[in-house]
Parts: sequence; structure tokens; C-alpha cells
Amino acid sequence: METAARTAPATVIVAIDGPSGTGKSSTSKAVAAKLGLSYLDTGAQYRAITWWMLSNGVDIHDAAAVATASEKPVIVSGTDPAAPTIAVDGADAAGPIRTQEVTGAVSAVSAVPEVRARLTELQRSTAAAAERGIVVEGRDIGTTVLPDADLKIFLTASPEARAARRSGELKGKDATDLASTREALVKRDAADSGRKTSPLAKADDAVEVDTTELTLEQVIECVVTLVEEKRTA
Ligand code: C5P
Repeated sequence: METAARTAPATVIVAIDGPSGTGKSSTSKAVAAKLGLSYLDTGAQYRAITWWMLSNGVDIHDAAAVATASEKPVIVSGTDPAAPTIAVDGADAAGPIRTQEVTGAVSAVSAVPEVRARLTELQRSTAAAAERGIVVEGRDIGTTVLPDADLKIFLTASPEARAARRSGELKGKDATDLASTREALVKRDAADSGRKTSPLAKADDAVEVDTTELTLEQVIECVVTLVEEKRTA
């Protein structure tokens, strides 16, 4: 906050992309909170639309059916980094979007171009409405959603580090789940990177930060410094 007050006044748009388990969400929320910016979790939006499809009996492997239904759910994201929210048709969806069922289905739904077009528009209008600026996290923010972002970060980490972090997040799971978590992560990243429409990719002008050997605090500090450098440049 102190930093934001010192360097403010211009709006700053920060895009943070990368595969799962790299610390994207924790980093993005903390950076936004420190700098007094809004925060948007675009993965939560893809999960929300996936949850709606599953709840409404849409076959997620039928791309045409998913495309037709993609306009129906009303998705609203709350952008306060201290308490981000996600609602579908007026109901809080924060819990249901984190189930294994949704995680296993989301890559198929997010590969459908109509779904991406709809959410990309929503994400752009949210960014444009953020008065002080915003940190937007996802897979295609720097390449497709906000190609003119002031700062683009691409977070990476080894598959082992990512699986270990993700297993730690899934409370109640033991070490034997590490291998299956790793396998599921690698599979989801391959699907996200291999799809035709806006795949997971590093923008040419993104700064790549390998978080494998870094603590969360170090990653946050690194990104905050990069934002401040941009603001004062
Ligand atoms: O970030 P998270 O793991 O919650 O994202 C869930 C899924 O949403 C990803 O695996 C990907 O399929 C999709 N996604 C996407 N584009 C984004 C953000 C997420 O396709 N910008």
C-alpha cells in the first residue's frame, strides 16, 4: 500500500500466466494486495463455466453442445484480492469449482472457442473497469486477453515442485497421491498447451520466473519489484 501511494497514480495492468502449481494464484493475490490493485482469477471462471455444464447435463466432450450452452451461465467475479469471489447464476461457486470432477473436465471445456471468446470478453471488460489497475492470472492473459499489459510474467516450476505444492493444497491426501497428482497436472498442462485456441504459452515479451527454488515470499517480492520498475520507468 505504501508503495502504491508513493508511486501511484497511473493504472497498471499485470498479466501472470503459467501452468498449474507454479504459485500463480498466491503470487497474484499477494502482489495485487500489496500494490492496491484488483485481482482476477480467470481459471476460476473456466472452472465455473465447467461446473455449470456438468450441473446442467451438458456433455463436456460434445464441443458443439458446450458452444451452444456457453452463453447461458451468468458468471460474476469479485476482484478484491483479500476476498476474491466467483458466482454462477447468483450462487457462490467457490467450493464446487475446486472438486476433482471439475478439475478433470475443465481442459475440455476451456478448449472450446466459444467458451474462450465469451470469457475473454468478460476478462477484458473487468480489466478495463479496474480503476487503479489489476493483476490478471491465467494461461493466455499475456498472449491473447491483454496483449498490451504493462507487465507480463510467466511463472514456471519443475513438475515435481508443482505436484508437491498441489498435493499440499489437497488436504487429507498422503504422499502416495503425489505421483497421481503429478500425472494429472502434466496431463492438464499438455491439454492446455496443445489446444488450438489461445493455448497456455509464454508471450514473447513476458518475464519468465522459475519458482522451483524460490519461496512464495521471494516470488512475490520479485514480481512487486518488476511492477514498481515499470511504474517508475
Ligand atoms: O488456474 P486453474 O488451474 O484454476 O485453471 C483451470 C483451467 O482453466 C486450466 O487447466 C485451463 O484449462 C483453464 N484456463 C484457461 N485459460 C485461462 C485460465 C484457465 O484455459 N486463462
